[in-house]
Amino acid sequence: MDNQNFDAIVIGSGLGGLTAGALYAQQGKRVLVVERHDKFGGAATVYQRKHLEIEVGLHELCGFGHLDLLPQVWNQLKLDDRIERLPVPSFFSVKKAGGHPQQIMPEGWNEAKAAALRLFPQHKHGILRYFQILHGVRNDVFRFVTSNKTKWWWLRNGPILPLKFRAMFKYNKVTVSQLFEDLFGDEEDIKFYLAANIGYYSDRPQELSALFYAIAQGSYHEGGGYYIKGGSQKLSDALVDIIKEHGGDALIRRTVTNILLDDNGRVSGVRHEKNLTIGKRRAPKDKLPRQAYAPVIFGNAAPVVLQSMLPLEHQQAFMAPFNGKPLSPALWVLFVGMDRDPKAFGVTEYATFVIPEHCRTFDDYANFKTAFSAEPGHTMPGYVFTDYSKLDTGMNTKSRYFAVMCGIDDMNNWQHLSEADYYAKKAAWETALLNDLDRQFPGLGRHVVFHEMGTARTMNEYLNTPMGATYGFAQNAPFIQSKPPTTRTAIAGLFLASAFGSHGGGFVGAMLSGANAAKQAKKWAGQHLPSTGATASKQVLAEAATN
Ligand SMILES: Cc1cc2nc3c(=O)[nH]c(=O)nc-3n(C[C@H](O)[C@H](O)[C@H](O)COP(=O)(O)OP(=O)(O)OC[C@H]3O[C@@H](n4cnc5c(N)ncnc54)[C@H](O)[C@@H]3O)c2cc1C
Repeated sequence: MDNQNFDAIVIGSGLGGLTAGALYAQQGKRVLVVERHDKFGGAATVYQRKHLEIEVGLHELCGFGHLDLLPQVWNQLKLDDRIERLPVPSFFSVKKAGGHPQQIMPEGWNEAKAAALRLFPQHKHGILRYFQILHGVRNDVFRFVTSNKTKWWWLRNGPILPLKFRAMFKYNKVTVSQLFEDLFGDEEDIKFYLAANIGYYSDRPQELSALFYAIAQGSYHEGGGYYIKGGSQKLSDALVDIIKEHGGDALIRRTVTNILLDDNGRVSGVRHEKNLTIGKRRAPKDKLPRQAYAPVIFGNAAPVVLQSMLPLEHQQAFMAPFNGKPLSPALWVLFVGMDRDPKAFGVTEYATFVIPEHCRTFDDYANFKTAFSAEPGHTMPGYVFTDYSKLDTGMNTKSRYFAVMCGIDDMNNWQHLSEADYYAKKAAWETALLNDLDRQFPGLGRHVVFHEMGTARTMNEYLNTPMGATYGFAQNAPFIQSKPPTTRTAIAGLFLASAFGSHGGGFVGAMLSGANAAKQAKKWAGQHLPSTGATASKQVLAEAATN
């Protein structure tokens, strides 16, 4: 029984949960991670298929600029001692239909600005202003977040916040479409060039917050984009290692079914059972439901999933802050293994954004997700083709080249289909997408020796996120108001640590949300738990028993 008592339990092992768990463990806490899948990491995993190592979710990692918050967390966890970051050779390139020459967005702030000015000299004023805005927003947000906000700070600064953090307040209310309209009017080519990768954040420029966009896009320009040597699994495994090195434990193929509450409505543990849908069947005793106890729970699963784990009478209060919040988009992926280097067929860049003919205005990005609503033959979606062989990843070394096509999807394209119809439609689309890839890079198609497609439905099943949402809630304008109100929840001791948490989606957002959860949990535990240390949960249980 003893080893079922922990200081914290993490439900799900996505990056948000693992970051919260690892930081909490570093404070001398015993942490248990419970993951329903057969790998740790959620979207940050790598799996094996026919001699091919497949990266599930990492194209590019940002967050390493001097106005970013991630380095603090990264350094605290000493992650550079455990994993190697590989700088990507260029940020992205844009390939528009209709014979337009490919345009490259280089790495580096000055380089990106210079390239934009060279390609679009007629938009000099707008381009300079654009980079000024990205910097201004990032500078304001960094100053605001890192200020020591005491009561006196609020008294002094509260009334003048909109003046002190002018760019932050102004662009909080603005969408990316509005920002671009303001800078470039209806000149669409420059918008495609600057923000071809908008799908890294959203499916709708008409709603995406310019504030969120400026923070993230500015981070790529300023701090660079990175891949992780050996794949994103290395990052997830490093975080699990930290948890275990501090006396914690981590379980795979176990689904959390219930969050246990004590008589005061505070969390006291979880009930979990073997996930029989994943991996091989194990010894019968493994199938039995088990319980583990802790006074703190980090919820890495989506809020709607956490809600279903709570006793009925607590569900409404827990879910109230999240009701009605729009979800981020789902993604589709087509993993591709090739027996020749894609560069032989004209793939010159790491990430190439292919913009189809029907996408005439930048706002047409919003239509990408509807392509799969029909059988192939009507409209092709836009996508990014990420060629991992441009980097020395240490993966797929035996004459196998790995790349991925990826774009925006919608659960409605797939969810109502029978199994047979789903697989038939998916197969038809795989063929159509590979044909399109061959049109973009003639000859490449003949060298595809492996392909496997994941849809919104796959994301929904694989990550257990509602509608396959990949980046948590949508990062819409007004951004500050659209964020979840807090990492704390209505359930005492339960903290959100995921892309649905305080800092939004992507690797960086999930990790920062996790870091925030660890911080909030420490504060809460200091105020509410009788003592800290690995026996705290026992004391809470003992308290509950005597109540
Ligand atoms: C194809 C793809 C490409 C992407 N590309 C990038 C990129 O290039 N750069 C970037 O920054 N971001 C990218 N992202 C987004 C980024 O990966 C995610 O936003 C982020 O990793 C989400 O982390 P998370 O902590 O919210 O957890 P998730 O990764 O969503 O994981 C949640 C975990 O909880 C587990 N879980 C759910 N329910 C239970 C339960 N009942 N019991 C136990 N476990 C449970 C799930 O199995 C899962 O492992 C991409 C995502 C995808 C899918």
